[in-house]
Amino acid sequence: TKKPRIVILGAGYAGILTARRLQKLLRHDEAEIVLVNKHSYHYLTTWLHKAAAGTVEDERITIAIKDVIDSRRIRFIKDTVTEVETTTQRVMLCHGEPLAYDYLVLALGFERADFGIPGIKEHALAICSMNSARQIRLTVEARFAEFAKQKGRDGQEKLTFVVGGAGFTGIEFAAELAERIPALCRQHGIDRQRVQVINVEGAPALLGGFAPALAEYAKASLENMGVQFRLSTRIQSVDRDGVTLLTEAGEERITPATVIWTGGVQGNRVVCNEDFAAVRGRIAAEKDLRAPGHDNVFVLGDCSAVIDKRTGRPFPPTAQLAILQSAVCAENLATLVRGGSDLKEFVPFIKGAVASLGSHDAVGEVFGIELRGRLAMMMKAIIDIRYMAMLGNLRLLLGKGKLAAYVAP
Ligand code: FAD
Repeated sequence: TKKPRIVILGAGYAGILTARRLQKLLRHDEAEIVLVNKHSYHYLTTWLHKAAAGTVEDERITIAIKDVIDSRRIRFIKDTVTEVETTTQRVMLCHGEPLAYDYLVLALGFERADFGIPGIKEHALAICSMNSARQIRLTVEARFAEFAKQKGRDGQEKLTFVVGGAGFTGIEFAAELAERIPALCRQHGIDRQRVQVINVEGAPALLGGFAPALAEYAKASLENMGVQFRLSTRIQSVDRDGVTLLTEAGEERITPATVIWTGGVQGNRVVCNEDFAAVRGRIAAEKDLRAPGHDNVFVLGDCSAVIDKRTGRPFPPTAQLAILQSAVCAENLATLVRGGSDLKEFVPFIKGAVASLGSHDAVGEVFGIELRGRLAMMMKAIIDIRYMAMLGNLRLLLGKGKLAAYVAP
């Protein structure tokens, strides 16, 4: 009989770990495994803010997919998924022929959500992928160069970067950008006082979900690095010149300004077809991580919504959740391939979260314990190293200096 084909879409946290687990769980003759991803590399999304600010080199957070999967067991296809057709069990690709599947794993990650705010899509940058992070770094560098040429040496005008959103990504990126600025100022002969980073947040506090004391700590740490906060302030629109804010006192313009939007994410639009009833690109996963009404389709990571029984709301999409899901998904797939039907229930055990505040500070909550400064930084390093170990091939990673980047950023 023909081997069933498992097709995994996306080689982010969820996809690559599902692939790696399946290559261990299933024998060669039990299933054909195919992994599809836009690029030939896997990247550490949780480090994209550093690539965007230019505080780490791109190579440090990308890993060739062929180095972390066994290519005798898994066929890798570098292509972009355009559509999933469940009626014919096929995946449409940008370049290649349609790809048939017996089992499908949707792990295509996230994209920016702009909540219908005019101009965000056209005029704001966003941290969504390696390429978008690179675009931010290049834009920041270009703005410094232009500013130095035009008005950097005299006048009062400021070089302004507005970071929209004070969630995890917004705070981590603002800190990283603030850390990069002194070097850029030196390079271009610009006075540091002429450059400003303004973080705009609709809520009255930053890092929603964190304990207030930790949010205050983070705020003080970033202010110390020169970041200004505009809390209880909404971005009303973004245009070519800058941004219009809505504050309690009314409208306010900040121009010229470069806007980096981190205010929201949604699941990948590919899953937004009527087959899956996705809400903002996220499919409400069943307990066994399958898409409702689709016995052979699993949904993981930022494309999935998993309800937290304690709050009745979906868990925030995180790499941590994606990693945990991949283990259950791989086991359930192995059960199905072997003709079983007793699937495991996904019960997430969320350990906490740690946000970096540049390379010298961090803040977090792990197992209910509040961490600040060095302890939080150590915890962040442990999380990162643990993930690198999950990807296997520590020797290769060490050789490339990737692991070293965690220990001594
Ligand atoms: P991703 O990791 O985004 O992977 C999706 C993959 O699919 C990518 O390889 C992409 O190239 C590929 N892809 C996308 N579209 C297509 C297509 N059409 N065709 C083919 N391939 C495609 N979470 C934490 O737990 N801890 C943190 O500290 C943390 N920090 C973060 C910091 C930043 C700056 C950001 C942006 C996020 C952070 N997160 C963190 C969230 C975390 O990164 C995401 O939840 C996680 O990446 C989701 O994993 P995923 O596998 O669903 O998707």
